[in-house]
Amino acid sequence: MNSSAFLSGGSFFMLSVSYRGRFAPSPTGPLHLGSMLVAFGSWLLARHAGGQWLVRIEDVDRTREVPGAAANQLTTLEAFGLQSDLPVERQSDRQPLYQRALQQLLTDGMAFECHCSRSDLADQGGIHRYCAGQRQRAQPATRLRVADGNRIGFEDALQEYFEQDLGTEVGDFVLLRADGCWAYQLAVVVDDAEQGVTHVVRGADLMDSTPRQMFLQQQLGLATPHYLHLPLLLDTEGRKLSKSLAATPVDASDPLPALRLLWSLLGQPTASLGKTSSVWRLLDTAAHQFNPQLLQRAPVQLMQAPGCP
Ligand SMILES: [Zn+2]
Repeated sequence: MNSSAFLSGGSFFMLSVSYRGRFAPSPTGPLHLGSMLVAFGSWLLARHAGGQWLVRIEDVDRTREVPGAAANQLTTLEAFGLQSDLPVERQSDRQPLYQRALQQLLTDGMAFECHCSRSDLADQGGIHRYCAGQRQRAQPATRLRVADGNRIGFEDALQEYFEQDLGTEVGDFVLLRADGCWAYQLAVVVDDAEQGVTHVVRGADLMDSTPRQMFLQQQLGLATPHYLHLPLLLDTEGRKLSKSLAATPVDASDPLPALRLLWSLLGQPTASLGKTSSVWRLLDTAAHQFNPQLLQRAPVQLMQAPGCP
């Protein structure tokens, strides 16, 4: 099945007042073109569906947070005209929600304390299937139990069907780290459900997190949202943008060239945006002209480094 056949047959793009999407950056630095592709793509899909679009700052991993990065990201989004329809949420303010979910999983016997270090898991290929910890830690991690033979797959609205054997490919995964930070997987699942997110649009680099998140949703009795994973953005050398020197921040003082570039990277015809010099007019036109059938599944490669004329 090619992507356009699936797109036209799926329900992802039907006009719906119950569509709620989100963009959820981690405050690890300024937004670069790859993150803005996801921001603009998820905004366009939400607008196309007549739905809402939220911004959430994913700052649970305090060891990776860069001071000032969250404020910088919000300033950039505002300059690009991409504003959250509801007040911006920060995961650091939402810890009681994660604690409640963790307690439910502990009570149900699905989660357990784990004293294993990374080296303790060497005999299991680094994938936790049983506790092999040699010593008690003052603060253990908490993991989710994954039974053998637990295969979880999903139909993405853009990418090919994706499936994982959670036991052999992921193992019992961490919900609360030994350093006290909440794991990304738990925070995202709790937040998406609590915020009523119905459609998760994000980069294809997160495809392999989705089965874990679906399993968590099942264990917590939460609904599974629709998923659409946008293509990765590659630099002019074919490397993933965020891993390369070309991952330079977008210029918040001059958003129009970047918005036009992102529009074309999302497979949309450049001429359809017209010649406006207003961000608001460009976004209004983009929201009306956007055609999700034109989204590409394969990674998209920049033809020239961002910022070059
Ligand atoms: Zn263990």
